[in-house]
Amino acid sequence: MRHLPYFCRGEVVKGFGRGSRELGVPTANFSEQVVESFPSDIPTGIYYGWACVGNGDVHKMVLSIGWNPFYKNTKKSVETHIIHTFKEDFYGEILSIAIIGYIRPEKNFDSLEALISAIQEDIEEAKRQLDLPEHLKLKEDNFFHLPGGKIVNNH
Ligand code: ADP
Ligand code: MG
Repeated sequence: MRHLPYFCRGEVVKGFGRGSRELGVPTANFSEQVVESFPSDIPTGIYYGWACVGNGDVHKMVLSIGWNPFYKNTKKSVETHIIHTFKEDFYGEILSIAIIGYIRPEKNFDSLEALISAIQEDIEEAKRQLDLPEHLKLKEDNFFHLPGGKIVNNH
């Protein structure tokens, strides 16, 4: 994966309400502009990495780069599930992510149960990978810990 690690920051916007929250895996969506700034040849699929909301702590995450149904699958969407329980939603806040590794391509599932268990496996795989020293060190990257105070968001 020649684009990795890939660092990116942007506002969390409303997604298309595909029910990720109902599956127990809310996904913070990036705006179309942020998605367009991604390398166009980055493969769709599931990735793992680190994420931070506003000035908050850095958490493990799993990320989906997929085809955006709103644009008849001609544009990509980028959605981050942070492996952490937040007290509140954070729409409008700045999400910073480091995409580190690839887990698997996009897939279609025969049932909701199969989808949910695949997501749970992705989360477990992300947790294991991110505990490796070479991946753990990116949690401390200056990208997340800017000198002289971190990112100020507009809320
Ligand atoms: P949408 O379709 O608007 O993206 P989701 O059901 O995917 O709705 O929920 C995403 C929203 O849930 C995020 O924008 C964020 O505000 C909130 N949220 C709460 N906890 C998390 C989490 N652990 N990871 C990602 N988003 C979360
Ligand atoms: Mg979402």
